[in-house]
Amino acid sequence: MNQSPDIDNLRQRAELIKAKHQDQLLNQAYPDMTKMTGDEIQALVYELQVHQIELEMQNNELKSTQQELSKSQQDYARIYNLAPVAYLSLSQQGTILQANLAATTLLNTPLYGLLGQRLEKFIHIDDQDNYYLFFHKLLKDPSSPHLLSGITIANQSTHKLDCQGLDIFHCLHEECPTDRALTYLELKAVVDQQENNEVIVYLALKDVSTHKILEDTLACLNNKQLNVIKNQRTSLTQHRQLINDKTSELQQSHRTSSELKDSSTHIFNASSEGIVMINHLGNIESSNPATSLILGYSEAELLGTAFNELLITPIFTDLSVELLLENSQDTLGSSFRVDGLHSNGSILPLSLSLVNFTLNQTRHFAIVIRDNSLRLQQEQHEKAHLDEIAHMTRLSLIGSMGSGIAHQVNQPLTAISNYTQACLHLMKAEQPNLSKLSEVLIKTYDQAQKAGKIIHRMKDLASQRTTLRSMNSIDALIESAVNFCADECYQHNITVTLELSPESPQIALDSVQIEQVILNLIKNAIDALKEQKNASDKTISIQTCVKNDLEVRVKDNGPGLTDAQKEKILTPFFTSKTTGMGMGLSICRSIIEAHGGMIRFDSKLEVGSTFYFNLPLNGEKP
Ligand code: ADP
Repeated sequence: MNQSPDIDNLRQRAELIKAKHQDQLLNQAYPDMTKMTGDEIQALVYELQVHQIELEMQNNELKSTQQELSKSQQDYARIYNLAPVAYLSLSQQGTILQANLAATTLLNTPLYGLLGQRLEKFIHIDDQDNYYLFFHKLLKDPSSPHLLSGITIANQSTHKLDCQGLDIFHCLHEECPTDRALTYLELKAVVDQQENNEVIVYLALKDVSTHKILEDTLACLNNKQLNVIKNQRTSLTQHRQLINDKTSELQQSHRTSSELKDSSTHIFNASSEGIVMINHLGNIESSNPATSLILGYSEAELLGTAFNELLITPIFTDLSVELLLENSQDTLGSSFRVDGLHSNGSILPLSLSLVNFTLNQTRHFAIVIRDNSLRLQQEQHEKAHLDEIAHMTRLSLIGSMGSGIAHQVNQPLTAISNYTQACLHLMKAEQPNLSKLSEVLIKTYDQAQKAGKIIHRMKDLASQRTTLRSMNSIDALIESAVNFCADECYQHNITVTLELSPESPQIALDSVQIEQVILNLIKNAIDALKEQKNASDKTISIQTCVKNDLEVRVKDNGPGLTDAQKEKILTPFFTSKTTGMGMGLSICRSIIEAHGGMIRFDSKLEVGSTFYFNLPLNGEKP
């Protein structure tokens, strides 16, 4: 049997012990081998051999137990060192006795830097009181395990965690708990009292930084969420207020619109002009009482009727939607004249105004119908009245210029009488000079023609006549009017000057009416100058000017008009003359306006007055 060195060693130790205790061993009573029989010695040897084997077996067992023990010690050391959880063993004073690899990583210090150091050295200053209390409580009551959460360790590690608030709430980077230079720990402790009364504190350290930062981030997000909700609630309240305001506004406008609707219904019914609503097919949808009055159909008869049927010439050539719309674009906003058909068959002169509008996405039309029969009658009546007054004015003009006219007629008559006497005288000769006679007779004829023309013009002026336009030269009319007044001007020492434009074209006008206007203006100028008893230079100047139209000016250097006169002279029946009618300028105005022109004046007191009228060059052709 091979004896192991341990056994040799054991034997040596045993021999040493035996030598040490020699005396005691000698005193022990051992059997005397010399007196022992052979069998007894043999039995003793046997006993000793068995005992030796027993001892060797025990020794082997001990050895294998020792090996197992050392293996488990190694296992323990490996588990302890490689455990993912950081473990520390502390003395009663808090000094680090042992630390595993995870602890050195967590505390960011190598093992030699940890052993013999107090743990609080690694704990953040803010948490040191907490740690102190924890440790003392632990030693006071070692029976139960203790937990300290939320302790921080100041080290160089930085935890990066992107806060979702940056994306979700667009908050600033510095507002979010993203970067930490601290490690958050949770400590779990067990206290062990050794046989020698020594106290060992075993600590398990758990890194809860991620958890803590997540918690902080969550709290931060919650706060922001709350703020967002608060803001949203405020804006919701504002919105609600806005909606309330809008609702009241809507209710108000609804009330107003229903009032408007009521009043427009009243207007619709009370209107003196006919109003019909027609749909896009041209059929009447509603009509007011005035329409029935104008056309002679009841409202019930009108409803659904095609509007075209009420007209002699349909305003819509085809009642298809497109054409209706096309036509309506041309006629919208303006009024146009048509002949309508009354229920009794008579033809009505009507004026229609068309307005289109959209209702429920369909085009509708409102047509305003005006009955022109009454207006036309009135216009005819007014025109007849005006013609009457114009006639009266002309007669009054002829009357007031009687002496001038008599003088004008008298001149050719005197000439005729003289020429006739000359003819008789020539004829009495034995051999009448026939050529001389015929010359005198021609002159007589001319004078008779001249007298005839004067009479004819007078007859024209004095006659009741209807408007007649022809192409005329304004120059001829001016000269004729000046001739009429020549005698009166001569009597009152008034000079008449003419400045007539050589460009003056023939224009379409009623010669009698325009001559009446010129005559009236000259006559007024003569009347004004007649009053200037002491004036030496009394002048009437008549000018024509052609630009965009033809302008005629009658200018005098009479007394002029006061402001009060200026306001009234173009209105009927204003006169400053004892025998005046005050209708002259009113008649002139209506004649000129009927020709498409305007009459104006300029006047300065003690300087004189100028009356202008203009006529369009392209006036209505005859
Ligand atoms: P009547 O000649 O019958 O008075 P008019 O209508 O022709 O009527 O003239 C109205 C008034 O205008 C005249 O009474 C006169 O006071 C004033 N008036 C017209 N033309 C002139 C003028 N050239 N100078 C001063 N006053 C004038």
